[in-house]
Amino acid sequence: MNAAIGRGGGSTEDQGRKDEIVTQMKLTIVGSGDAFGSGGRLQTCFHVALPGDEVLVDCGATAIIGMQRLGLDPDRVSTIFISHLHGDHFAGLVWWLLHAHYVTQRSAPLTITGPAGIAARFAAAAEALFPGSPKIERRFEMRFLEYAERTPLRVGGVTVTPYEVRHPSGAPPYALRLESGGKTLSFSGDTEWVESLVAAADGADLFISECFSFEEQVGYHMTWRKIEQNLDRLGARRVLLTHMNSEMLAKRAHVTDPRVLIAEDGMTLDI
Ligand SMILES: [Zn+2]
Ligand SMILES: [Zn+2]
Repeated sequence: MNAAIGRGGGSTEDQGRKDEIVTQMKLTIVGSGDAFGSGGRLQTCFHVALPGDEVLVDCGATAIIGMQRLGLDPDRVSTIFISHLHGDHFAGLVWWLLHAHYVTQRSAPLTITGPAGIAARFAAAAEALFPGSPKIERRFEMRFLEYAERTPLRVGGVTVTPYEVRHPSGAPPYALRLESGGKTLSFSGDTEWVESLVAAADGADLFISECFSFEEQVGYHMTWRKIEQNLDRLGARRVLLTHMNSEMLAKRAHVTDPRVLIAEDGMTLDI
């Protein structure tokens, strides 16, 4: 993986990079926060630019806000890969629908992949937040595809393989492995440590791992200590820590392994 790291927010370097032709896979962190707003970070959302295509991995409630901050155009996104059905990972689809219909008048189809039942959970969330919104007559097609455990799913130029993890959310939760153009990006989703992460991250150019707390496990979430113990086994060339609570954010300077990066909203990474 190319080690070039940039930060969004209008630096000269980033302005120059916006019009670059994407030759492989470029990650922009739209949101690296947890469900509680820790550190003032936006909720989980990763933008991935590929040659001739743009996709998202997770779509927290703040996704449209974050994309507009960074000058990313939602209409250029063809596919949204959802890891699990918690609001800080999929609720942004509700605002995505409103933005696409009322603001940009999107016509291009949108594919959304996720756990079994995602279409119904989306419709219920949209109906609760904006009554009638799931039934508006759209100019664009929203196509929902469901994961099957460890079964590669080809969408456009991306192959996504889901690996079930442990994180109760009303439907099976997954780590996702995305492969495109010879590059591999893996993402833990939310989970405590499970062995399926080793398969999901194996040989990846980048493994994005949730890292909710530093040492003491909280709920069905990961600690830095668990990741540190398993870094060699994970076998990813680099690991990016995200979804940190306030304790983990306060201690992030203690993470010194050269393979490990700490996510920031607006950060970009050539994979
Ligand atoms: Zn979460
Ligand atoms: Zn979650």
